[in-house]
Amino acid sequence: MKYGFTLFCLMVSPVMLAADPIETTVNGQRLNATMQHMHTFGENEEGGSDRVAYSDHNRLAYSYLFSLMQQSGLTPDIDVAGNLVGRRPGKIDGLAPIIIGSHIDTVPNGGHYDGIVGVMAGIEVASTLHEAGIELDHPLAVIVWSNEEGGKTGSRSYAGTVAERELSLPSLGDKAIGAGISHLGGHPERLGENRKRPGDVAGYVELHVEQGAILDREKISIGVVEGIVGIKRWYITIEGFANHAGTTPMDQRQDALYPAALIVAEIRQIITAEPGRQVGTVGRLDVKPGAPNVIPGEVMFSLEIRDLDMDKVTGLFEKIRASATEIAESHGTSISFDQYYESPATLTDNGIKALVQESAAALGLTTLHLPSGAGHDAQSMKDIAPLGMIFVPSKDGVSHAPTEFTSEQQITDGANVLLNTILGMDRLLR
Ligand SMILES: [Zn+2]
Repeated sequence: MKYGFTLFCLMVSPVMLAADPIETTVNGQRLNATMQHMHTFGENEEGGSDRVAYSDHNRLAYSYLFSLMQQSGLTPDIDVAGNLVGRRPGKIDGLAPIIIGSHIDTVPNGGHYDGIVGVMAGIEVASTLHEAGIELDHPLAVIVWSNEEGGKTGSRSYAGTVAERELSLPSLGDKAIGAGISHLGGHPERLGENRKRPGDVAGYVELHVEQGAILDREKISIGVVEGIVGIKRWYITIEGFANHAGTTPMDQRQDALYPAALIVAEIRQIITAEPGRQVGTVGRLDVKPGAPNVIPGEVMFSLEIRDLDMDKVTGLFEKIRASATEIAESHGTSISFDQYYESPATLTDNGIKALVQESAAALGLTTLHLPSGAGHDAQSMKDIAPLGMIFVPSKDGVSHAPTEFTSEQQITDGANVLLNTILGMDRLLR
């Protein structure tokens, strides 16, 4: 598949010569001051953030962002899903809006950068356009999606994939999702009004921290995101025969755990034998009956594989299945495979990727094309609009923890790439 190829190319570009000069840049100092102010909404004693979705911290942060949006020339409003949406009109009548989105809710004891960088940079971009008197052809909306960490409820309302029963499920805080939406000022009973169709949105872009260590390790400023990886998960069960651990000789055992151990090692071998950024994980292993003096009669373990190319995920699984079956049978055990989860990959738009790349190059920033191993609100726009994502480095790849960190310069660089990508999208998209 075409995709696989670009993925393996490290598109590191030093200063580029042929790009348009950058005339407008964001106010990095102001942007980082607003980032700092966001700490006040839910910072705990460990220095982490407890601003879980639908909490009072979430609500108070909304009122701050509401006034910040107003100062930035945006007209803010809370939609039916409890998303905070700041809009500015475009010059040309009838054009669909370009959307900049991300989130400000955190996991319990989370960090101050995951999601927040994208929101604050989005508002800073609007501020910069406002101050510079730049009118875009398209309307622009900066959206703070609600409940990203608890299931992307806000952005999924645009895709129309929030099921009615989800509203009564618990969120990460103390409220059910429906009650939480109301707490933020939304109307869960009217969620369907948010549903968007292809053409309703001209383009979507999200700036986010990488949450991995690739950019940090390679000392690269900007990640041009190729897409959000797809995920498949299976349960694999090996059946042997549980028997007395003292009286059954070694050559007469049907131990289910021994072939399982060999298969876990084989999975790692198969996943790493091919070039690329695919990952495979055995994260759970249940041994029955689970007693020190009984030979394991049954072992069930999970297998998860992620990649941007779903055919590759399937191909790797088929190799694992063949090899695992051989190992299990050669040890007198039987094996079965049960796929129970699939989340398809989301690819970013080639045109927007090129704009991100060009914007970074024009700013003299190094870039790397890479997939996102974590899920993001951007996925929800998959069938609605062309989408793009920009990554900035995460120190040591730490995320969802109080020590999450991206430097002021890195945040400013990301915001400048976002600004220039928006300007490019405004020219390119119709
Ligand atoms: Zn996030």
